[in-house]
Amino acid sequence: MNTRPFPNLAFLRPLAALLLLALLQGCSVLQGGKLFAPQSFGFERIAPDLYVEAGADASARARLMQAVPQAEAAVRGVFGSVLSRPAVHACVTEGCHRAFGGGGTMAKVYGDRILLSPRGLSWHYLAHEWSHAELFQRLRWRGFWALPRWFDEGLAVAVSEAPETSEAHWQALRAAGVPVPSPVQLRRIDSLWRWETAIQAWGDGGNAGRRARGEWEIRPLYTAAGHEVRPWLKTHGTVGLLALIGGLNAGEPFEDFYDAAPVAAAP
Ligand SMILES: [Zn+2]
Repeated sequence: MNTRPFPNLAFLRPLAALLLLALLQGCSVLQGGKLFAPQSFGFERIAPDLYVEAGADASARARLMQAVPQAEAAVRGVFGSVLSRPAVHACVTEGCHRAFGGGGTMAKVYGDRILLSPRGLSWHYLAHEWSHAELFQRLRWRGFWALPRWFDEGLAVAVSEAPETSEAHWQALRAAGVPVPSPVQLRRIDSLWRWETAIQAWGDGGNAGRRARGEWEIRPLYTAAGHEVRPWLKTHGTVGLLALIGGLNAGEPFEDFYDAAPVAAAP
């Protein structure tokens, strides 16, 4: 017999996350709250957990249908399995994206609700946000608070394999002399507040203007986070990542897992 001493309140987590983010990020998150009733705000459901802005053409719908299993495979490849099942909402116009609080982002996640901009309609950006949702699903509150933001973003960048934050972009930034955060600077960006400030400080937040001026778009902060986490993931693998998540949930320091020597392979 399965008895539960306490009611299962897991269904409240996305709502709690939304309220928390609303406190941190202001009204855009409240606009994102409309994703809890997408069909009331101009989205059509085209598959379980997949919504597209009404009026999207057949090619956008087909691309999205393909993107979901590709993104899921990318998340599984890193986490070993996929426990989260985020609802995906794809805007095909900038007006839709703005109305749901997307701002200048390519994509955004609100707890277990993902919002894709018209510029982010690919498996890469879906996988990035899904990585956040998967971590959120696996972490208890204590672990969630202890997770450094730079690691959360670096992991999402690594999972996504997006060209805009790839090793090739890293090399291009270095070759062009664009300042990028050092590992020490990056690892100081541990909170949501610091990350949001750093997006502007390092230039990732200026791409709408660059786009309007026809200039090269740069993402020094996100790319540096991916550049830091990618080799760690290669060395420690899924086993190391799951150990880190378990450690955070148990109240152990992040550094004990991130800076630890990898477990030696069996002879
Ligand atoms: Zn992210």
